[in-house]
Amino acid sequence: MTSSTQVAVIGGGPGGYAAAFLAADLGMRVTLVDEAPNPGGVCLYRGCMPSKALLHVAKVVTEAREARHWGVDFGEPALDVDRLRSWKDESVARLTGGLGQLSSQRGVTYLQGRAELTGPTSARVSSADGGVATLGFEHAILATGSRPAAPGPLALDSDRVWDSTRALEIPSVPESLLVVGGGYIGLELGSVYAALGSKVTVVEMTAGLLPGADRDLVAVVARRLGRACEAVLLETTVTALVEDGDGVSVTLKGRDGESAQRFDRVLVAVGRVPNSDVPGLDLTAVGRDSRGFVVVDGQRRTAEPTIFAVGDLVGEPMLAHKASHEARIAVEAIAGHKAVFEPAAIPAVVFTDPEVAWCGLTETQARAEGRAVEVAKFPWGASGRAVTLDRPAGVTKLVIEPESERILGVGIAGTGAGELIAEGVVAIEMGATASDLRLCIHPHPTLSETLMESAEVFFGRSTHVYRPRKR
Ligand code: FAD
Ligand code: NAD
Repeated sequence: MTSSTQVAVIGGGPGGYAAAFLAADLGMRVTLVDEAPNPGGVCLYRGCMPSKALLHVAKVVTEAREARHWGVDFGEPALDVDRLRSWKDESVARLTGGLGQLSSQRGVTYLQGRAELTGPTSARVSSADGGVATLGFEHAILATGSRPAAPGPLALDSDRVWDSTRALEIPSVPESLLVVGGGYIGLELGSVYAALGSKVTVVEMTAGLLPGADRDLVAVVARRLGRACEAVLLETTVTALVEDGDGVSVTLKGRDGESAQRFDRVLVAVGRVPNSDVPGLDLTAVGRDSRGFVVVDGQRRTAEPTIFAVGDLVGEPMLAHKASHEARIAVEAIAGHKAVFEPAAIPAVVFTDPEVAWCGLTETQARAEGRAVEVAKFPWGASGRAVTLDRPAGVTKLVIEPESERILGVGIAGTGAGELIAEGVVAIEMGATASDLRLCIHPHPTLSETLMESAEVFFGRSTHVYRPRKR
């Protein structure tokens, strides 16, 4: 089969489908290519969505146990792993099926198969049944995403060593689980398995969990994780993995030298690498950097004028909402609109319990860059909502430019932080000052008041904490 299109989108994740849908909405003829039966990519099939479904269950299980403290005893939660797995799969199918419908409603041609470039304006798509389609295009948007990294000793090909995709399938609930990597995936999936009953040990190479996030935010989640996990070992790496009976024998290297331990299963979560080995890329001028990310300009155009690239393929942060935003910029550029990717605040949310979220400038970054900032913090112990939810452990902080009083960064650790951070994004993107935030009436009693009250802390007049202004 030979066909031609205006915009060919390769990869059906949040970058790819957002691009395809907007291009169609702007009146372009669009073909979207992915191997899955429906759009969705990593995010829907083996990333954001299945992990959030499992994290929801983990939270319910934990709260059911904690309810005893409030005078309600549901008994010990009984786990039906098969039902849990199928509920998660049903949620994913519902979402990806919905995207399939949205795709056909918009008149997007969906080709199920694997694409390879055959030049700057053409591609070949091979389907699983052996069919091959040739596709000519005016523009292509590459959105092929990323895959789990398993460097050096972590690359043991064994059904006992899982990556995130395997862990999300819940092959079993192992008695003991080693999580290698204390980043997003390690902490999210580690929390899931801990709530389901595994004894979880987390090893993290650096001196703290979630490198990149401010330490005061991480401290909030680290305390609770410390209780949920068997152990959290910092400045520790894995130097060897060897199959051992039905488990894995692991050599850990930490501050005090090497030690050996046996775990039933190991989850490797040490980062992801871009899928930039798209066949035929060398037939174009598309360039890659030393880490394999495709190099793009502010409009997400590669060195090949007809080809754009978005999402995990083009660099950090590897987040779905960053991919979708870039996708919309690329499509607008193709449509000839004035558009550029220059966000002041990309939110990051770690969906542990409690959640950790931040956007804009972090305090750590400000200090590293020698920028003069003031930090205003509101402790959740002073929030009526947090206390009545029995979740007083939390903090909301603003990173403020002292002279202009502009809000440059927002960080939140506490239950529901992922929802709350959106207000911080709006404040930063709108150039809001601490006064703007202070003067906005927030509903009572809600956790959102902690944003308003941290702005009040900046002026030394928060109603619920006594912290006179120093300067
Ligand atoms: P992807 O979603 O990776 O999609 C790329 C698609 O392209 C895939 O379907 C792939 O099969 C396809 N493809 C690759 N090569 C070809 C080819 N040659 N031809 C055709 N198709 C091809 N981000 C968040 O923002 N929030 C979260 O809560 C979150 N949770 C996550 C949890 C996990 C466990 C993981 C692994 C990731 C999570 N992420 C989360 C990250 C998020 O999934 C990615 O940032 C996002 O999916 C990137 O979107 P993308 O469009 O760039 O690529
Ligand atoms: P990550 O970069 O978030 O964390 C990897 C962690 O592993 C880091 O803390 C790193 O220091 C550590 N590490 C690296 N090598 C190690 C080693 N040999 N031994 C011990 N520790 C080691 O990566 P991830 O958790 O694999 O997630 C990949 C990406 O997927 C994330 O960066 C994020 O962009 C995305 N993601 C996002 C979400 C979300 O938005 N909630 C959830 C999951 C994944």
